[in-house]
Amino acid sequence: MKCRHCQTELQQVFLDLGHAPPSNAYLSEPALRAPEVTFPLKLRVCDVCWLVQTEDYTEADALFSGDYAYFSSTSQGWLAHAKAYCEKITKLLQLSRDSFVIEVASNDGYLLKNFVAAGIPCLGIEPTDSTADAAESIGVPVLREFFGEATATKLAASGRRADLICGNNVYAHVPDINDFTTGLRIALKPGGTVNLEFPHLKNLIEQNQFDTVYHEHFSYLSLITVSRIFEQAGLRIFDLEQLPTHGGSLRIYGCHQDDARPATAAVAAMIAEEKAFGLQDIAVYQAFQARADKVKNDFLAFLIEQKRAGKSVAAYGAAAKGNTLMNYAGLKHDLISFVCDAAPSKQNKFMPGSHMPIHHPSELARQKPDWVVILPWNIAAEVMQQHQQIRSWGGQFVIAVPEVKVLA
Ligand SMILES: [Zn+2]
Repeated sequence: MKCRHCQTELQQVFLDLGHAPPSNAYLSEPALRAPEVTFPLKLRVCDVCWLVQTEDYTEADALFSGDYAYFSSTSQGWLAHAKAYCEKITKLLQLSRDSFVIEVASNDGYLLKNFVAAGIPCLGIEPTDSTADAAESIGVPVLREFFGEATATKLAASGRRADLICGNNVYAHVPDINDFTTGLRIALKPGGTVNLEFPHLKNLIEQNQFDTVYHEHFSYLSLITVSRIFEQAGLRIFDLEQLPTHGGSLRIYGCHQDDARPATAAVAAMIAEEKAFGLQDIAVYQAFQARADKVKNDFLAFLIEQKRAGKSVAAYGAAAKGNTLMNYAGLKHDLISFVCDAAPSKQNKFMPGSHMPIHHPSELARQKPDWVVILPWNIAAEVMQQHQQIRSWGGQFVIAVPEVKVLA
């Protein structure tokens, strides 16, 4: 397999999590009696451009044939994050009724609705019908396509280049990152700004976040690598912020290469920090598997200990992270009795691979488990605050990543 960015033959494995079903392949009850398809879940790292990427395999298209869609508006924390971003960037770029904003992967309109409310013209790019329908129903215009060079060229040809193109949590999920980045350059107005947010590879390694790996998450990104991809596409990064979202993300500010804005000190500082951490040192990548294995084994040991002590364990959050952790650990419902989730689209279904039943969060009060494992550890504070009632029967919260830890 060749690197998706620089075409170098990939020699180095970063992480091998065995086989797993697609993380969004939730099962209905009848499907439990049928065979289940799994795919290799392995990451490789390019030792030239340092792009960490999922390994290619045949029948990748099968991943996206599911009818499940994630609705961003389900998370209150994510809605607040989007609103705060819109207010900040509107001020910073002095966006007005004369501006034009494009959001790539606009989902259900959770972000662009803020621009609509402010009277700033905008367009969402979103190929998934169910979420695009939801966005249009609240007045957010949507172009139902995948974003890349072809879509960007059409937008530019029709005079619809943007003052701001934003993509929160989409960059790591695009299969052809070069095509996507070229699209950004084409769809951007001269003097315009690109904002992308993506989980930072440095945090993934430092915080043992191996459960953020899943098939649809194609790229695991450092500033070193993204700078290189931007430059090849005719863009450059002139500023960045570090965000707490998704276990530590970068929000980068990009512009055309000939833009007048100089790069801030934050850009050079982060490149230096990544180099000092070893993101250009193959040994740092080679050491990660053992760290992921330790977290997985410690978590298994915790669950077995609780089982032997006669304690019951449930989990909260039927999302991709939980699927990766449970499938890599080989968990079945003997060690975790059920998972609860606030999203109605997941309730009464079963987790792919582990086949754990997914219930409404009210099941916690009914079954009164001794332990609740919060699978999406990045929103642990929000989950704990909403489900404080488990304390009334002596229940406790625990997370598995970056290490098994009881939350006070
Ligand atoms: Zn490469």
